[in-house]
Amino acid sequence: MAKRVLNFNPGPCTLPLSVLETIQAELLDYKGTGMSVMEISHRSSEYKEINNAAAVLAHEVMGLDDTWKTLFLAGGASTQFAMIPLNFLRQGETAAYVDTGSWSANAIKEAKKISRVHLAASSEDSGYAYIPKPEDIDCPDDAAYLHITTNNTIRGTQYHELPDIGGVPLVGDMSSDICSRRADFSRFSLFYASAQKNLGPAGVTMVVIREDLLEKCKEGLPTMLDYRTHVEKSSAFNTPPVFAVYVTKLVLEWLKDQGGLEAIEKVNKAKKDAIYQMLDKYPDYFKSTVERGSRSWMNVTFRLPSEDLEKKFIAEAEQAGLVGLKGHRSVGGIRVSLYNPMPLEGARKLAEFMENFRKAN
Ligand SMILES: *Cc1c(COP(=O)(O)O)cnc(C)c1O
Repeated sequence: MAKRVLNFNPGPCTLPLSVLETIQAELLDYKGTGMSVMEISHRSSEYKEINNAAAVLAHEVMGLDDTWKTLFLAGGASTQFAMIPLNFLRQGETAAYVDTGSWSANAIKEAKKISRVHLAASSEDSGYAYIPKPEDIDCPDDAAYLHITTNNTIRGTQYHELPDIGGVPLVGDMSSDICSRRADFSRFSLFYASAQKNLGPAGVTMVVIREDLLEKCKEGLPTMLDYRTHVEKSSAFNTPPVFAVYVTKLVLEWLKDQGGLEAIEKVNKAKKDAIYQMLDKYPDYFKSTVERGSRSWMNVTFRLPSEDLEKKFIAEAEQAGLVGLKGHRSVGGIRVSLYNPMPLEGARKLAEFMENFRKAN
């Protein structure tokens, strides 16, 4: 038996054990081909089946109909920061963005290279401690779209209510909370997620676009940066990240077997409750860095009374088999990432460790 730890890394992060075991079992001979998935042609029927199954599973799990097109692209969420304005923001037009942390800021930076950006709301003045309320989001009626980051992986905040912006297309970076609970996907025109948090390994990004937005793509774009290329060629215009798509397909299968979004939501709620209970019980010791109403279910961030105690906490947790708890280098502190594959038992063990650590220190 391989030694496995409880992995609270923020991304790349923990994957379901059963998925890793399937990969291992299929590695040398994928379904009788005598080759691994990494060695077969991306034009083979075996790969086509993986690619199609991944898209079908994504639609099934999220309850999306045929008006949505699901793509599996390389380049990470960071490439989507550029592709979205390249495709949908015309010279002289304005795109609206809500700034809730570093990832939003990076998205804004890319859009500014294309045309004007209207800051619809920002929580920067508070150190990104909250998500702006829907009524505080000022989105012009003629904005090309409004972009939000549904979960802020670094700061530990998450939207629990989507902004109401009438006819303006809503675009969401859902990299760190996609498929972690039910969501009203019908409110979006496009949403995307790099896989290495809730969906699979690094190397692939899922992009889901509604047909009516697709019609608004600009003409004359570089082929690889035009969404229509990838829709027309079912994400295989060029050689796709075959292995990453294969693992993503396995994770989506696993998610379906768990009972889908409704079931995983229950588990994720219990997981985050276990950790936030510690923060609420000892607020002067485990000091939350975000406002209660904006707490993330996926990334719980907090500080201890001193940086030395934080170092000790991280080191002792690691010795106890609880790894990946260091906060992002830009903010410090502790970050507990509770993505789908982290079992409830893992969150409970960490909560118990927190209780004991406080007692001893
Ligand atoms: C991780 C992350 C990204 C960056 O993804 P890459 O695949 O590294 O480009 C963007 N947005 C959010 C919310 C993230 O968590």
